[in-house]
Amino acid sequence: MSITVPSTTPATTSLLSPGRQALDSALFQLDQAADRLGLDDGLRTMLATPRRSLTVAVPVRREDGRMDVVQGFRVQHNITRGPAKGGIRFHPSTDIHEVTALAMWMTWKCALVGIPYGGAKGGVSVDPASLTTRELERVTRRYVNEILPIIGPERDIPAPDVGTDEQTMAWIMDTYSVNTGYPVPGVVTGKPTTLGGSLGRAGATSRGVQLAALKALPGSPEGRTVAVQGFGKVGALAARYLADAGCRVVAVSDVTGAVVNRSGLDVDDLRAWVAETGGVYGYRRADALSHAELLELDVDVLVPAALEGVITEENAPRIRARLIVEGANGPTTPEADRILADAGTTVVPDILANAGGVIVSYLEWVQNLQACSWNANEVEVRLRDLMESSFDAVAATSAERGVTLRQAAHIIGVGRVAEAHRMRGLYP
Ligand code: NAD
Repeated sequence: MSITVPSTTPATTSLLSPGRQALDSALFQLDQAADRLGLDDGLRTMLATPRRSLTVAVPVRREDGRMDVVQGFRVQHNITRGPAKGGIRFHPSTDIHEVTALAMWMTWKCALVGIPYGGAKGGVSVDPASLTTRELERVTRRYVNEILPIIGPERDIPAPDVGTDEQTMAWIMDTYSVNTGYPVPGVVTGKPTTLGGSLGRAGATSRGVQLAALKALPGSPEGRTVAVQGFGKVGALAARYLADAGCRVVAVSDVTGAVVNRSGLDVDDLRAWVAETGGVYGYRRADALSHAELLELDVDVLVPAALEGVITEENAPRIRARLIVEGANGPTTPEADRILADAGTTVVPDILANAGGVIVSYLEWVQNLQACSWNANEVEVRLRDLMESSFDAVAATSAERGVTLRQAAHIIGVGRVAEAHRMRGLYP
């Protein structure tokens, strides 16, 4: 059986919104895993269907007195193994389809790395760069107020994603706590450490990307060349940690442009440039290149760490990286996956490669619930254990079943959620 969800969008792929394409990719991956696991039609449909989807209007008062209204979303894809967990994205093209795809990937990711969460995601269709800090705070607080009935430390715990950060999480914690009447740090993760954030959370996704890359690289990382797409929270620190491990980061890009230096970029110097100017564009110790060229560079490792659907049927035949480690969620389309697999390119899939973020979010939540705080080493040891054991499990399944790492990761993640459904049974 092939899984479909109702759609009002046109059937021609090129006309589909990026969000709808992401959801189609997620459903295709689920379908493949369900075939391999021999799941029956009812369970497949259950796994393909979000448990709760909320769309809200977010009115915002602009500095000049005007009122704008943007859309907000929160999707809880699955809550069978535990409360829903997933980031909140502020991006102009975010829609319900994209948020649903991201929520579904969160479900498989949490099951794959063995943490007791379901999957969720949230989004607001707004460009944070176009708002003042006060407008951003008003959007955040109003959005949180609209989704308040379905979030909470035992229900659904948001975290940062594209366009949101520690400050956003602090406003969420405050809005929720003011409404509840007492402080509730466990309602959100990725908070500043002064509000109960965990040591190690800020760099956790990137540290996980580094650990996954080091596991997947045959031989020593010393001198291996790396290109990173996206120089935000995940990409910038992934570049830094890979450089720390001995790799040579030769190219990075962000929304402002892409830069390359074959002798190796000084990642800290570039981060300082970005902090000063707002983007990598114009960085003096490197040459400019196009966004498309960055993805096609002849490097050992490519880390996509921006948005979905950037490695496609169109550019996959020109990708020369030997190893792709997906810091971003959903950067590779299923058609591109096939082309890369045929070419012998190893792809460490998103639900494994970027799981470090949700692993340390889980550790933060546990610390909040227990009202305690662990030192950086305790967090690091737990993160490394879970990342490495999850990687080993995926690699073993891939070898046993003769499937790609992505297919293996989905077999494990989807299989665990399916098993949880079977054990709980169907109410009533
Ligand atoms: P971010 O907003 O901090 O950074 C995004 C970066 O991508 C920015 O540098 C931006 O300029 C760049 N970018 C946007 N469009 C681009 C383009 N067309 N070409 C090149 N660069 C472009 O977001 P983030 O938190 O770093 O998230 C990045 C990816 O990682 C997303 O797919 C997100 O879902 C995923 N992810 C994030 C976390 C986390 O903890 N933040 C955890 C797991 C997965």
